[in-house]
Amino acid sequence: MNTKTALITGSTSGIGLGIAKAFAEKGYNIIFNGLEQNGADIANDVASQHKVNYIFSPANMLDAEGLRALVVQSADRFGTIDVLVNNAGIQYVSPIENFPENKWNDIIAVNLTAPFHLTKAAWPYMKKNNYGRIINIASAHGLFASINKSAYVASKHGIIGLTKTTALEGAALNITCNAICPGYVKTPLVQKQITDQARINNISEEEAAEKFFLSKHAVKEFIPIQSIAGMAVFLASPDAYAITGGSFSVDAGWGAQ
Ligand code: NAD
Repeated sequence: MNTKTALITGSTSGIGLGIAKAFAEKGYNIIFNGLEQNGADIANDVASQHKVNYIFSPANMLDAEGLRALVVQSADRFGTIDVLVNNAGIQYVSPIENFPENKWNDIIAVNLTAPFHLTKAAWPYMKKNNYGRIINIASAHGLFASINKSAYVASKHGIIGLTKTTALEGAALNITCNAICPGYVKTPLVQKQITDQARINNISEEEAAEKFFLSKHAVKEFIPIQSIAGMAVFLASPDAYAITGGSFSVDAGWGAQ
């Protein structure tokens, strides 16, 4: 039985929840996090199903002090943090001309600055333990741009830079850091954009999904959450010990075009 511990932000919805389930299946202690109202119940359900130890924390990615406290609380309970998955993320879609400053600030804070705070807070434990696996959930938008997603694209390009620096600093300490770059996965974050595009363009959600989302994919399907979760579990596995500083696309062929 694996007795390692994984802290996964934004793990009470979408991709993060899928990643938490995959790590729980491998026997990891899980630190769940997210803003969903029923987050504590979701965490309890996953942990009970896989018979693993867990903590649920609604710590907000906008609250640096709260994030540091979450790391200390997790390490107090489980001894260290072996795996940190920076997954929590938000989106806002608007042309730059009308892009609200507060949305820009929040997206950079949640998608980029919170992973920095958590990496920094977890570092002393990983260093002491001579073991760490940091996995940043970036995006195809960490490698390519789309119109109207300035803050998101900037934050995701930024986290790929943070990933590379973290990998270099961790190299001598057996701390690896990698980014996963998903294409479109049908989670609440993307469903909201599909609904908005259908309304704005007066078309069905199916048409909006094809026209504005699946058009980016060579394989005209949304990516299953398990594909992202499986990649995360692999990057934390012993076989991945020498894989660091990379950005791994799970993007239905988006980047091949
Ligand atoms: P989601 O909306 O289903 O889940 C996001 C999670 O982050 C939720 O648990 C939410 O509560 C949490 N979160 C958001 N703001 C938070 C805050 N301030 N404090 C604490 N938690 C907060 O979205 P998702 O699609 O599963 O996205 C997960 C990650 O994957 C994000 O980083 C996103 O950018 C990335 N991503 C998603 C897609 C996609 O197509 N869905 C594609 C590429 C990358």
